[in-house]
Amino acid sequence: MRSFVIGGNWKMQILKVDEAVKAAKAIADAINGLDLTGVDVFIAPSFNALYSVGQAIKGSKLKLAAQNMYFRDNGAFTGEISPDSLLDAGCTYVLLGHSERRRIFNEDDAYINQKVKKALEKGLKPVLCIGETAKERAQGKTDEVNKTQLAGSLADVLPEQMKNVVIAYEPVWAINNKFLNPDTEIKTATPEQAEEAHIFIRKWLVEKYGQEIGGVVPIQYGGSMNAANSAGLLKIVDINGGLIGGASLKAADFKPIIEAAMGNK
Ligand code: PEP
Repeated sequence: MRSFVIGGNWKMQILKVDEAVKAAKAIADAINGLDLTGVDVFIAPSFNALYSVGQAIKGSKLKLAAQNMYFRDNGAFTGEISPDSLLDAGCTYVLLGHSERRRIFNEDDAYINQKVKKALEKGLKPVLCIGETAKERAQGKTDEVNKTQLAGSLADVLPEQMKNVVIAYEPVWAINNKFLNPDTEIKTATPEQAEEAHIFIRKWLVEKYGQEIGGVVPIQYGGSMNAANSAGLLKIVDINGGLIGGASLKAADFKPIIEAAMGNK
């Protein structure tokens, strides 16, 4: 049986705690009756709402993720958040290296690597995001970019630690973000484009960590995934889930994607 990780990245879209709690409860209620064996589902609200959302979904089938974290335990690091605070809020997952962090906040692979290692040390599951821009794709550099981001962000991560890592392949040009894609038409990767990249990533993982470990690291697709296109993407063997932005904010949009994963088990 195939398994999937379906995650909702709420970015800076739901600004008030009570609205985030309401949206999270709606998703938890919508999925609680489903047989989610083999399908892990998480949402990543803003930091201000993390603890309250964690409390609201406790005991449900919905898991909690953070959108970022710092790589130190505590101290004088103004504006940062500790992995221990994420654990206190009830997080299972943490998104790291999202293209919005890489491109807008200048995070590089070495910096992301420190966070990945710290998350693993603390028992948080990193969702490592990688992916090429439209320009890099047009220059034929897709594989090279993905390989560089994987190698740099996962440097010194031990094979046994990879059992707790999720990779999210998110071509930047497919992410519904006009700020990142000012001159490009944003469109979901076709199943063929996504498959090609996922096969490349799988091959890299297997070469590096062996079939037993590298063969089963979940690789999510991210970039304008929605109810209409998710089934076509999730049926591809090496697409093991989705990281979803806009279509994860409302239960009515998010639930069909989760059901698409269930239908491909
Ligand atoms: C994302 O940013 O992780 C993402 C996939 O966003 P969207 O689904 O809105 O394109």
